[in-house]
Parts: sequence; structure tokens; C-alpha cells
Amino acid sequence: MSSQRRNAGHWSAALVGVILLALAACSRDAAFERKTPDLPAAVETPATLPHERSRMLFAEAHSEPARATVDAAAVLDDWCSALADRLHSVAKADCASGFELTGHESVHGRPIIVRPVRASRQTPKGRVLLIGGTHGDELTSVSLVFWWLSWLEATGSAYHWRIIPAMNPDGLFARPAQRVNANGVDLNRNLPTPGWETASQDYWRDTGRSERRFPGDAAASEPETRWLVDEITHYRPDVIVTLHAPYGVLDYDGEPAPPARLGPLKLNRLGVFPGSLGNYGARYLDIPVVTVELGHATRMPAAGQARAMWQDLTRWLDRRIAPRVRQAERRADEPAAGG
Ligand SMILES: [Zn+2]
Repeated sequence: MSSQRRNAGHWSAALVGVILLALAACSRDAAFERKTPDLPAAVETPATLPHERSRMLFAEAHSEPARATVDAAAVLDDWCSALADRLHSVAKADCASGFELTGHESVHGRPIIVRPVRASRQTPKGRVLLIGGTHGDELTSVSLVFWWLSWLEATGSAYHWRIIPAMNPDGLFARPAQRVNANGVDLNRNLPTPGWETASQDYWRDTGRSERRFPGDAAASEPETRWLVDEITHYRPDVIVTLHAPYGVLDYDGEPAPPARLGPLKLNRLGVFPGSLGNYGARYLDIPVVTVELGHATRMPAAGQARAMWQDLTRWLDRRIAPRVRQAERRADEPAAGG
């Protein structure tokens, strides 16, 4: 066999492999699929450059189940051990089942992990994206995700959820934990909001160039930010809930009326910042963003308070998000006005 023909054989085998991977990815996405209007055409999705190892694991997860399961399980096991070492209120067992690799990693190669939870009914009322640990030193924002997850699992939910306990694992696992990622960037200032190039730098300069709030040198310059953009683009959440601390308020961006309070946290809008998730989600993509600012970054709220927050949140989803989703679905079903 000539080397040319042998190469051709390799290429066609590779092509078949790529097609199979794509099909596997499609069928996986289809599990969460429902009819939604496309995101605005203006959305720029920066190139996603996941770390090589994570990407290989992600690809393997779709092609060689047996081996990938072992590799992914080992990575998740390490992650959960580190988490249990870091947080008093989370046991390794809390992290033991159902978590998956997103295929994205932090600057230092730590995986960003996700826990998908499917709706307990055939037709979900909507899709929720829940994010903790955007700022690595807000430890309670990670722990509370696990508390809420345990209640969600106990009761089931009429919504699909994708739950990310720690968007900034490098910040969380740093000693001491730090707000910014490993490149010193505030991930809640790095999202590609319109006009970011000037607005973010102006805002940072005007507010005293705090090292804790550096927006980065370019929009979506950070791998963690690119994960979030990719997540929103592919999952298309109907609402995003993001946990922070320590301001002890409920912040909100979006069109439907906000919750008046979540447990002890009262609505108090903190403003809109260049590159923030509230700005990117609500103003740019029309996805409401609930920002929960817990009262303390290292001391958990009382269990009763945390449960009241959860109950108020789920009631608000039914009151404001489910009808909005139904309305959007009805609009999508209507025949296009023609003539
Ligand atoms: Zn924060």
C-alpha cells in the first residue's frame, strides 16, 4: 500500500471518528433539547480552547465509555476529595454521584465540573443554570450549592438544572482562597458584554484599579469565562442563578419581576458592571439573572435560612419563569405570519 493511500485511509478513519463523536455529542445535547428561539445573532462566541487533557477526556467520554469512565471518575474523585478538604460543610459523599466533566478547565488545569439534574416530569417548566464559586474566596457560595442540590434531589424538580459548584476552582483551592482566577482576573468582570473594551477598563480605573476586580486584558480572555459563554450558548438556560457573598442581599437583572426576597435576603440591586454575568445574561441575552449575595463568605447561613432561600427561589421560578417559558414556546409554535 502506498504511503499516500495509507494516509488517505488514516484520514477517512479519522473523519468517521469525528462524525461519530459529533453524533454522540448531538444525542447527548438532545437530552436537554427543546424548542427555543435562537440566541440573538449578535452574540459573539469566543473560541473555546479547553485544556488538552480535559478535551481528550471529553472526547473519550463519547467514544470509549469504559476507559473514559475510569479516567473521568478518577478526575472527579480527586476534585471531590480536594473540595471536602477545603470546605467544612461539604462531605466527599455529597460530591460522589452524578457529577460530570464539562470538558473545560481552569488556568491551572482543574476541571470545571457540572451536575445535570433532569426534570421529574416529561415537559420541564424551564431550564435553570446554577453557579457557585465565581469568586474563589466566597466559600459559602460553593457550599450552599451542595445544600440546595441535596434538597433538589430529595424532592425532584419540574425544571432541568445544570449545577456548577465552582466556576473558579483555582481561586477556591488557592491557599488562601482568592477572589480572582489564577491569572488575577475577576471572572465576574470578564464576560464579553457590549462595549467591554473601553467600559471595563474605564470602570476599573475609575474605581481605583483594585487587584480584586481586574477585568482582564480582553473580554473572555479566561478559560473559566469561555466555559460560561459556551455553557450558556449550548444549554440556553431560561434563568441563571449565581451565588456570591458577603453583601447579604438579593440582586437581580432581567425582565420578569424579581423575587422580593430569598429567605432573609431582600432585593437590593447593586448595579450593572461591564463584564458581569447580570449584564451579559440579562441585558445582552435576555436571560434573567438572580444574584444571591450571602451575608458571609466563610460562615454558612442557618439551615432554616438556606431552606427559606431555596423555597422562595423555587416559588419564584413557578411564578415568573415557568409562564415566560410557556409563552416563548407558544410563540415558537405559532405559524409564521405570512402573506
Ligand atoms: Zn462574588
